[in-house]
Amino acid sequence: MSEANAKLEQFRGEARAWLAANFPRSLVGKAAVYMTYDLDVPMEGDALAWRTALGEKGWGTPTWPTEYGGGGLSQMEARVLQEEMHAIGAFNPIPILAGMGVTMVGPTVLEYGTEDQKQRHLPPIARGEVRWCLGYSEPNAGSDLASLATKAVDKGDYWEINGQKIWTSGADISQWCGALVRTDVNVGKRDGISFLMFPMDQPGVRTRPIKLIAGASPFCETFFDNARADKKDLLGKLNDGWSVGKRLLQHERQSQTGGAPMGGGGGSLQELAKKYVGLDSAGKLRDEDLRLRLAQHLMDAKTHSLTLARVAAESRGNAKVTAAASILKNSATHVAQARAELTLEIMGGNGLGWEGESFNDEEINAVRAWLSGKAMSIYGGSFEIQNNIISKNILGLPETTQKG
Ligand SMILES: Cc1cc2nc3c(=O)[nH]c(=O)nc-3n(C[C@H](O)[C@H](O)[C@H](O)COP(=O)(O)OP(=O)(O)OC[C@H]3O[C@@H](n4cnc5c(N)ncnc54)[C@H](O)[C@@H]3O)c2cc1C
Repeated sequence: MSEANAKLEQFRGEARAWLAANFPRSLVGKAAVYMTYDLDVPMEGDALAWRTALGEKGWGTPTWPTEYGGGGLSQMEARVLQEEMHAIGAFNPIPILAGMGVTMVGPTVLEYGTEDQKQRHLPPIARGEVRWCLGYSEPNAGSDLASLATKAVDKGDYWEINGQKIWTSGADISQWCGALVRTDVNVGKRDGISFLMFPMDQPGVRTRPIKLIAGASPFCETFFDNARADKKDLLGKLNDGWSVGKRLLQHERQSQTGGAPMGGGGGSLQELAKKYVGLDSAGKLRDEDLRLRLAQHLMDAKTHSLTLARVAAESRGNAKVTAAASILKNSATHVAQARAELTLEIMGGNGLGWEGESFNDEEINAVRAWLSGKAMSIYGGSFEIQNNIISKNILGLPETTQKG
């Protein structure tokens, strides 16, 4: 065994021992509880003990530097930690509790933040104590994000913010917001944008939740009426928010490359098909057409996961995100949405249940997952916008639709 592998195996032993001592067995299978955890409700019992232990160890943000509350682990060690968690049914709730903090704001603050911003903002995210939301989209600025109109005016010792955002995920339960705002109206639209960070709990900020077809209200309209951001919470340079914001979006897309089904239904599609559709006398799935499409989907899913593994291996511990995240995001979206479609088709009439005793939990969850999965090709930049980025930044094709 090479020295590097021996070190990694030693780390595996340490991780296993630490998890055995700290992960409360009562939480096995309870990861979903955190998906809807409201930070206004005080966390208690084993859930609190686990969040605290992970936060103190820094293993909720395993690759972040230790001086900012992270675990200081290499990418390989972080993967080993994940494997060991998986093996005992443990999970990391901190990226969920922190909203956009761990996957998007944190990595961007690490790259662009001042030392003071890193010291103030990163440790509370790493402990899962502060939830962040992201104010990018506006009623007239979605794909054409550079048209955003929410304005911030320099008031001497603070920024005064006026305008409206929309589709702000978790805005009603977040403590902090990272937003793109217009700080100069007299220059090209991409040149007058800045990235500001400010607390949500202030008189100038109001949120109105938007209810979705799948039943939940995951996002809000967010209104700023003389809201304030501290001068020290400008992230990156003044009027350079377009670069900062684009970098954050790469982190967002990177975090959406898993291809996992949305909202449950993670079991085997083959087993589901055997149960609902049945087998013919030769032991094959009874519906030949479905069988072919199922096989195609399983190949696509395998190809996607192997590509992800290859990208991870090639990055060799250097976790820098690139425009390639757009390829993986679209591929993940394709896999997850195809899976959700097939699940409903396999379930037939039972896959149309919304509520009531004639449908079991799996069937009801499958409909919700299918509906909420539609959002995957929209958030983080739509499917078509990722294709534009791929054509321009990866394939080097001429700019056509992205002029602005
Ligand atoms: C579940 C969910 C969560 C979200 N969370 C957040 C959040 O937390 N913060 C936030 O700021 N935003 C969030 N969004 C908003 C999201 O980023 C936008 O919805 C997205 O960028 C698309 O913008 P739009 O809705 O205005 O659609 P539009 O930009 O109006 O697009 C409509 C359609 O036109 C297509 N289109 C537009 N321009 C082009 C073009 N140049 N070339 C080809 N096709 C084009 C699009 O692909 C799309 O199909 C969220 C969205 C969803 C669904």
